[in-house]
Amino acid sequence: MSRGYQAIHAELRARRGSAVGLPCVAPGCSRLADGWALVGEATNWGEKSDSEDKIVRWSTDLNDYAPCCDSHNHQLDKGGDWLYCPRGHYRTTWGVDSKGECQGCRRERRRRLRADPEYRARETARDLARRADRRAMNHRADRAVATGRTATDQRRAS
Ligand SMILES: [Zn+2]
Ligand SMILES: [Zn+2]
Repeated sequence: MSRGYQAIHAELRARRGSAVGLPCVAPGCSRLADGWALVGEATNWGEKSDSEDKIVRWSTDLNDYAPCCDSHNHQLDKGGDWLYCPRGHYRTTWGVDSKGECQGCRRERRRRLRADPEYRARETARDLARRADRRAMNHRADRAVATGRTATDQRRAS
């Protein structure tokens, strides 16, 4: 039997128990772990399971796992190590968002996008559309209030 992601995680729980509630091993992190995270080198990449085609990485060596909070687990999934993101941003300076994406990378990506006039035009169009939506919604709400008032007045009159 091949030792896929699911099999390894089942083996982990069977051999090492649950990691939930143990201290997160990330340096400086004071949160409790939400589960096992791969802190060593991945030996395999592939689909999570037959029913989930999400691509995940795992190691067949159970010692490559350590307790981690969700945030640090996501961070590890995105690559890099505790000190640097895959693009070399220093973690302590930049940190990651709740999805584990490096803030430095995110900022660079935004800056790159903003430099693209096509992207800027799309963004402006989207903002205008949103504002128009909001106006239409407010208008409808005003009308609903007005209609309700009229109905009450009529009831009162009869
Ligand atoms: Zn953590
Ligand atoms: Zn980065």
